[in-house]
Amino acid sequence: MIDPSIGYAEQLRRRADALATLCVHAGEPPGADGSLDPPIVMSSAFAFESAEHAARAFRGEDDAWIYGRWGNPTVSALEAKLAALEGAAAACATASGMAAISGAVLATCEAGDHVVAPRSMYAESARLFRERLPKLGIQTTFVDGDAGAYAAAMTPRTRILYVETPSNPTLGVTDVGAIAALARGAAARPLVVVDGTFATPFAQAPLAHGADLVVHSMTKGIGGHGDVIGGAVVGGAELVGAVRDTVIKGFGGVLSPLSAWLVARGLRTFALRQERACATAAALAAHLAAHPRVVRVHHPSLSSHPGHAVAARQMFAYGALLSFEVGSGDDALARGRAVLESLRVATHAVSLGDVRTLVVHPASTTHSTMPPETRHLAGIADGLLRVSCGLEGTADLIADFDRALG
Ligand SMILES: *Cc1c(COP(=O)(O)O)cnc(C)c1O
Repeated sequence: MIDPSIGYAEQLRRRADALATLCVHAGEPPGADGSLDPPIVMSSAFAFESAEHAARAFRGEDDAWIYGRWGNPTVSALEAKLAALEGAAAACATASGMAAISGAVLATCEAGDHVVAPRSMYAESARLFRERLPKLGIQTTFVDGDAGAYAAAMTPRTRILYVETPSNPTLGVTDVGAIAALARGAAARPLVVVDGTFATPFAQAPLAHGADLVVHSMTKGIGGHGDVIGGAVVGGAELVGAVRDTVIKGFGGVLSPLSAWLVARGLRTFALRQERACATAAALAAHLAAHPRVVRVHHPSLSSHPGHAVAARQMFAYGALLSFEVGSGDDALARGRAVLESLRVATHAVSLGDVRTLVVHPASTTHSTMPPETRHLAGIADGLLRVSCGLEGTADLIADFDRALG
């Protein structure tokens, strides 16, 4: 869906234009008092008009607000905006991205079920599948991201084909359409669940390629300002309803109204922010790829990237994250840290999708809990630095990386 004939800047501008009106208006009717900005409804319970009203509400015949864990107007407005941006029937906001991911699994799997998931993914998701779910009798087989490996790992008890694309931290790209075709062809019809955090709804629409659910950390590019923790599960009404019942009602992973309001506020400028951050990431990736002190750059915009062709077909943009490798052999770990500590414009911090450019050294931080062999199998080199491009001046950032590398 990326059309090389129009140039990448024009590609980004058109995508931003396609989403901008939804960003501003979706899910936001003016408040009852005429306020343009939706109120932050900080109320744990809501008054009933009568005993009959309460009885109807409890029978589900009236969509009255009852109790803050079951639903809240501010959170609901955010969910409507998110569903619109993802082109989905429904969205369920959660307390964090991990609540969304664990909730999607716990709402759809039971003891004895099986998951196929990628070897290279967000480290806490890897721990969920590797350490926590087996205690509940849910086993996972880890594969490299291609459809052939997923097909080989499937069993009659496979309930979820889990995908993270682009993946953390090497920006591996998985063909969602190919995985969805596998799921449709299997007798047990597993669900395709895609962690779309890195791409955000700006850069890809997994549901359009056959995914059943998309999970997001709204802490990242969706909230976009680095000031809130939140997550979401997006997809068809019935599945999202089941996730809501399990994660929100049952396990209590509810998003606070204040957090929902912050995310919705962030989303109003989402298209503009992503347009700029994606442009900076492509420019920085191209610059670093030509730098003599950089061993390798991982960004789907580069024709050298193994996922380039699939990304060009499946994505609207190549995303705001990239990673690159410095040093070699025993020197790589120290070199990675040295470059990181020399940056002045980019900030040394975890997380991503912030207004600030954030850089981490996965081998000594986010992925240090992974056994080294697993880490290397996942392609995470000791000198790898992950960069989440923010909204600073592109030239200032490029100069900052040049100085740090020199
Ligand atoms: C941050 C992140 C998560 C977890 O989200 P939280 O909001 O921190 O719980 C999951 N997946 C990916 C790809 C992430 O970047």
